[in-house]
Amino acid sequence: MSLIVAKFGGSSVASIEKIKNIAQRIKDMRDQGNNVAVVVSAMGDTTDDLIALAKATGGDLSGREMDMLLATGEQQSAALLALTLKNMGCDAVSLTGWQAGIMSDSTYNKAKISDIDTNRIMAELNNGKTVIIAGFQGISPGGDITTLGRGGSDTSAVAIAAGLKADRCLIFTDVEGVFTADPRIVPDARKLSSIAYEEMLEMAILGAAVMQPRAVECAMQNNIDVEVLCSFKNNPGTIITEVSNMEKQKVVSGVAHDYNCAKVAIFDVPDQPGIAKTLFKALAEGGINVDMVIQSAMRNNHNDIAFTIERDDLSKALPVVNELVKKIGASGCSFGDKVAKVSIVGAGMQTNPGVAADMFEALADEDINIHMISTSEIRVSCIIDEELTQKAVLALHKKFALSELE
Ligand code: ASP
Ligand code: MG
Repeated sequence: MSLIVAKFGGSSVASIEKIKNIAQRIKDMRDQGNNVAVVVSAMGDTTDDLIALAKATGGDLSGREMDMLLATGEQQSAALLALTLKNMGCDAVSLTGWQAGIMSDSTYNKAKISDIDTNRIMAELNNGKTVIIAGFQGISPGGDITTLGRGGSDTSAVAIAAGLKADRCLIFTDVEGVFTADPRIVPDARKLSSIAYEEMLEMAILGAAVMQPRAVECAMQNNIDVEVLCSFKNNPGTIITEVSNMEKQKVVSGVAHDYNCAKVAIFDVPDQPGIAKTLFKALAEGGINVDMVIQSAMRNNHNDIAFTIERDDLSKALPVVNELVKKIGASGCSFGDKVAKVSIVGAGMQTNPGVAADMFEALADEDINIHMISTSEIRVSCIIDEELTQKAVLALHKKFALSELE
């Protein structure tokens, strides 16, 4: 008997009708002789709605009470799915995160899973039950409810699959898998049959909202193959796996884009030790996440420093940066939020020179100016004008012949 961990996202449990559909899918897995542990997200926009309610109180949204509230979303969908399954003659039991033994640290709102005590889940499975676990939640060492950060039920599912040593980990979502680019922009984007952990991690971080990056990290650390597939169709999805399991000749696997970018530049920063520290410490203390950083070549003992942040953080960053300009004696600064990031990702880049040059050529051929560049071993990202994003994604998809990928 195989053990399957199957996760269903918010869109797959958004109504009772949808819950009935996935219940049938789960029953089919059982009827084929598998043990099944299911992880669910909250129904549709429930988490957003709960956040809106909490905001309306005017209270502090960062602490314990918020997790107490948000965890109820997943509890609802878990119980409703268990009721549906039982009504179909498929014995089931729903468990909260803590009943399922999901232990976490005590960082409210973005707790990390520290361990899973699988005894209860195993006992229920051995009793012939389908176990439905509320995703996105755990329990802190002090016994308080924690949540794992937005999109956290992906991480719940992968961690549970690792804890149970499951044979398969299936992430059911509203898309059919991982595509070479956003199909809404590139009509001939292809669904990848497999993708390496590292590539998926880059894609997830770059804004391809298929899976929470932490879940990919968790799968990579535990060496678990994860299949992403569509809950409304019966097609095979994309398997996220080790790179050695894949053909290595693929140089670029996908093009990602992200509109959630803003650019900040500080001019004539004195070139001396400690300046970057002062700048980025101040931003970190303001809770502002910095992505790319560029420092220009020095002239007259000064240089310019430019960086990108998330667009929503721009209003928070403005006062911090203005204050800093005065403090470090820079001549001024500029801000821009009409930019976007386009990236190419591929594990094969490590061994194939000239990939970045090909990317720059594709952008140049379309007359697209590059504001900033950053690279990792398997990724090249460029900041460009926001309005040119679609053009850039199409050009890059064509340049690397991604519509021919399997
Ligand atoms: N319901 C939570 C959220 O919307 C967790 C999840 O969906 O994975 O972020
Ligand atoms: Mg959700």
